[in-house]
Amino acid sequence: MNLEKFERYPLTYSPTPVEKLPRLSAALGGRVEIWAKREDCNSGLALGGNKLRKLEYIVPDALASGADTLVSIGGVQSNHTRLVAAVAAKIGMKCRLVQESWVPHESAVHDRVGNILLTRLMGADSRIVDDGFDIGIRASWEEAMESVRDEGGIPYGIPAGASEHPYGGLGYVGFAEELYRQEAELGFRFDYLIVCVVTGSTQAGMIVGFAATGRAQTVIGIDASATVEKTRAQVLRIVEHTAELVELGRQVVEDECVIIPDYAYPAYGIPSKETSEAIRLAARTEAMITDPVYEGKSMQGLIGLVKKGFFPAGSRVLFVHLGGAPALNAYGDTYRNG
Ligand SMILES: *Cc1c(COP(=O)(O)O)cnc(C)c1O
Repeated sequence: MNLEKFERYPLTYSPTPVEKLPRLSAALGGRVEIWAKREDCNSGLALGGNKLRKLEYIVPDALASGADTLVSIGGVQSNHTRLVAAVAAKIGMKCRLVQESWVPHESAVHDRVGNILLTRLMGADSRIVDDGFDIGIRASWEEAMESVRDEGGIPYGIPAGASEHPYGGLGYVGFAEELYRQEAELGFRFDYLIVCVVTGSTQAGMIVGFAATGRAQTVIGIDASATVEKTRAQVLRIVEHTAELVELGRQVVEDECVIIPDYAYPAYGIPSKETSEAIRLAARTEAMITDPVYEGKSMQGLIGLVKKGFFPAGSRVLFVHLGGAPALNAYGDTYRNG
């Protein structure tokens, strides 16, 4: 495998911390040992998160392209667009964002707090449109690219979640290599990883990185899109493409891409009662803050799988925390009493 041939523009602190979660492990019966890898604490840029690790491999291409404006897309409370805005500010480019109405929201401040507040603070030109949730390439995004050109700018497009970008999967191939080094220091290997999946390139990158040692199947994706077939197809596509890029040297088979659809209900961006219980449990046992869109769902998945006996006794399970806490601000009504 060859990741080194790709240029990486550093945006993150690395390695990210790996820590034990003893009170959460005990609260879940103590049969499995739960740990976390804190991708949510990965940078000083705009509160950090998984998108920065992906963007490290995209920025060199953006700089080389001669563009002056990063163009991207996401929901109103998108972590991804927050971090594209952060990167644009940091490297001195302009930023044009399309923010779609991915979540039918009830809070009056949904479009004024959290991610979109930070995005605007960093100077991005953020435009809210009415389109609903979809992880694919959108007409509104093409239009945003066009409007930058019309104004004499040179756009550089980054798709939703950076996932369909040709280099979108590389960052999390690097994650696998980073974890190998940390495991060597710890003196053991994690039996399972839990990771939230929506646009796909986080898990896809990990699958490629861990496929090199036959461990791809231990990466358990917890779907939070509630459109799991689209997400699964996108993960498979990104795996295939990324494996080729880094010269994995073999085909990754479908069985190596594990995605569990059971915890995404009732819809993307809407926490179930169990999601909220999971958010509270992680907060009250470990002061680890998870959000109702992404990490609350994967935390719910972790808890659900532990309770079902999915992990053999004595397993070490690594919860990969991808960030996302700023979105909680848009759910102030749901959590006003804790
Ligand atoms: C984007 C995001 C995810 C999902 O990652 P994908 O690469 O889109 O599958 C999970 N958690 C958080 C906090 C995110 O911002």
